[in-house]
Amino acid sequence: MRRHLKAQRYAGKMSATLILNSRLAGRACDLRHTAGAVTALAFHDQPGFVPLRPQKGDEILRGGMITPPLAEPHVHLDAALLGPLAPNKSGTLREGIRNWSRLRPSLTAQDILERARRTVAMYAEWGCLFVRTHVDTNSELAVGTLLTLRKELAERGITLQVVAFPQEGILRAPGRRQAWERAVIMGCDAVGAIPHFERTTDEGWDSVRLAFDLAATHGRMVDLHCDETDDPSCRNLELVCAETLDRGWAGRVIAGHCTALHSYDNGYAAKVIELVAASGVQVVCNPLDNAVLQGRYDGYPRRRGLTRVDELWDAGASVGLGHDSVMDPWYRLGTANPMDAAYMAVHLCQLTQEDQLRRTVRTLWSDNHQCFGGPPEIIRGAKTALLWWKQDDEIELLRLRPKPRVLWQNAGATRPPR
Ligand SMILES: [Zn+2]
Repeated sequence: MRRHLKAQRYAGKMSATLILNSRLAGRACDLRHTAGAVTALAFHDQPGFVPLRPQKGDEILRGGMITPPLAEPHVHLDAALLGPLAPNKSGTLREGIRNWSRLRPSLTAQDILERARRTVAMYAEWGCLFVRTHVDTNSELAVGTLLTLRKELAERGITLQVVAFPQEGILRAPGRRQAWERAVIMGCDAVGAIPHFERTTDEGWDSVRLAFDLAATHGRMVDLHCDETDDPSCRNLELVCAETLDRGWAGRVIAGHCTALHSYDNGYAAKVIELVAASGVQVVCNPLDNAVLQGRYDGYPRRRGLTRVDELWDAGASVGLGHDSVMDPWYRLGTANPMDAAYMAVHLCQLTQEDQLRRTVRTLWSDNHQCFGGPPEIIRGAKTALLWWKQDDEIELLRLRPKPRVLWQNAGATRPPR
């Protein structure tokens, strides 16, 4: 975090950054970014185009591409960076949960804060300034700590949302439902659940309905870990869609993982995908985790265990791409670079057509912003951070996974932590 704070102070001393002959949404343009806002924007194809001229003190960048900041729709900051302390020997989701729950009682506020700050700073270096974290509601300490961090980060130009996530279910043991409800009352942005981890199919469905009811009571969004299993009989996604349709909550509900959809019979999958598109539920695919967590009971041949991104797209559904884990008990690797998740998705979901490659990359600054209310507009007068990439082609971003130049919204306005 300190490093990016230094960068912000440095940026604050510049009078402006002038980007010449760059590309924005496929159009050639010149753009000036001054003290956190787009103060001039000229598209080369607009009538009467006049190139922007450098002014004294301008930092000048040439060529490349301008995009909104990247967004992360699904990560677990409370568990981030703990992987080395809890190696996952079987590689399964269930062992990951067991290992995490063993570590959880020893967490301290300071430890959670430091790891979360470090992880968010890693995200920021890759141009990701919007982060939605799930927090395990079995730790009120973790919930309170990440909610506090939300305010601290907002002052530094980073948006953090917190999802109340009952990692071990709400109906499996006494007290869990109450802890989950308390986390929502404490101020979490969205209500989570984990229906496939409840004891029975019926209890899983109950947990979905309870999550929607809790969100309705407190005016929150819904963001579920949904069907993160290879079991083709796991059918929570259709219920999530039905609840969303009945309540008219299109755009307010995320179903994360949905890996069972991969293994459904094709006829049933087609029905569910139609429901996803009609309901406006966004599916968030987490390719890094699910590439290693799924298929563990298969032997060979071994399923890929990722949701059906291409078929969801073809049906008109919105799909987000999450990193999910950064060196945590479920996934030992991780860089907090959203482009890595996109890269893995392209390989395992076979999104290799030109338009699929481009859509995968654009997802990071478009559909991934859905839970944050949509991507910031880059128009004249907009007070927004933006990214400048040396490369002018999305496919090159995917191939090279480079660091962008971040032009901060509140450049120079931030003080280092004491
Ligand atoms: Zn997750």
